Amino acid sequence: MKACVLHGKGDLRYEDVADPIISTDDEVKVKILAGGICGSDQHYYLEGGIGTSIVVREPIVIGHEGCGVVEAVGANVKDLKQGDMVIIRPARPCFKPDCYYCSHHMYSYCENMRHLGSAITFPHVQGLFAESVVVHQVQCRKVREMKPDVAAFAEPLSVAFNGVHQLGDVIGKDVLVMGTGPIGLLCVAAAKVLGANSVTAVDIRDEPLSIAKKMGADAVINSKTDPQAIEALCVHKGQFDCALEATGNGFACEQTMKMVRPEGVISQVGMFGSGHQPKDFGAFATKGLKWHSVFRFYSEFGPAVNALESGRIDPLPLLSASYPAEQCVEAMEAAVSPTTCKVQVRFY
Ligand SMILES: [Zn+2]
Ligand SMILES: [Zn+2]
Repeated sequence: MKACVLHGKGDLRYEDVADPIISTDDEVKVKILAGGICGSDQHYYLEGGIGTSIVVREPIVIGHEGCGVVEAVGANVKDLKQGDMVIIRPARPCFKPDCYYCSHHMYSYCENMRHLGSAITFPHVQGLFAESVVVHQVQCRKVREMKPDVAAFAEPLSVAFNGVHQLGDVIGKDVLVMGTGPIGLLCVAAAKVLGANSVTAVDIRDEPLSIAKKMGADAVINSKTDPQAIEALCVHKGQFDCALEATGNGFACEQTMKMVRPEGVISQVGMFGSGHQPKDFGAFATKGLKWHSVFRFYSEFGPAVNALESGRIDPLPLLSASYPAEQCVEAMEAAVSPTTCKVQVRFY
């Protein structure tokens, strides 16, 4: 079969790889329909890794956001059958009783995690930008017939749901979303659907801010062209009850801390690259803020899928382009361009 294989920095190829086979009774073989290119895939392509600790050391099939149709199931799989449409959950925890995190239902932190398309572990876990993948049955969420390009948003939307989840109760709250990359935009929709009174989105580019409006933002601010608007939201120790920081930029994070009221919560959804951490903790130190890191998701996957399946969240305003898998290099080049939002590849 064919797959999108990254051989190292800047070297992505659509090429033949071995057909995956079901090797345990709990596994499911899925024919992939569509997948979204994530920021981590882009880092692998542009830099050959993420930071200094995660390095692509062998050819890896990229991709962890996707959906497909069941091709075959192992003997223990009762709830799925050939032809079912499924959305794939990329995390495969070990579920072993002697794993502290699995035995405490803290699956995201499993020390034996196998996450699709991840170079964290070696050998790397191959990803799902391939004609077929084999995954554990718990990684498959059956859905009724859905558009593949919508279904492929379930994984990033789950991250956004986790970000809102870590804010605690958002019902009736005025929520700030800092940064309108794909995750920030999905945070806008997630906060609104999960009960926020209002959502304000901030970025330094106008195009994604116009998408934020389509995703439900009540107000949008370009902090580059309208710094006075940001100043106005810092008065009286802040004007928001809570915030999702989705830039991973230290300065934006400092601004967020100034804009949230005392004792508010900030979900740190954006990942700080090395050297990009916030430096000024003045607002943080004096306002009793809670700063919650957000790493992937687990229980949020089902609710995120439900929101897409029911149509309560329409992610398609984020979709800039979709390419056939054989054009994965063009797709990746489009994804890394600052003018696009989400780019997908498709296998149909
Ligand atoms: Zn992702
Ligand atoms: Zn485990």
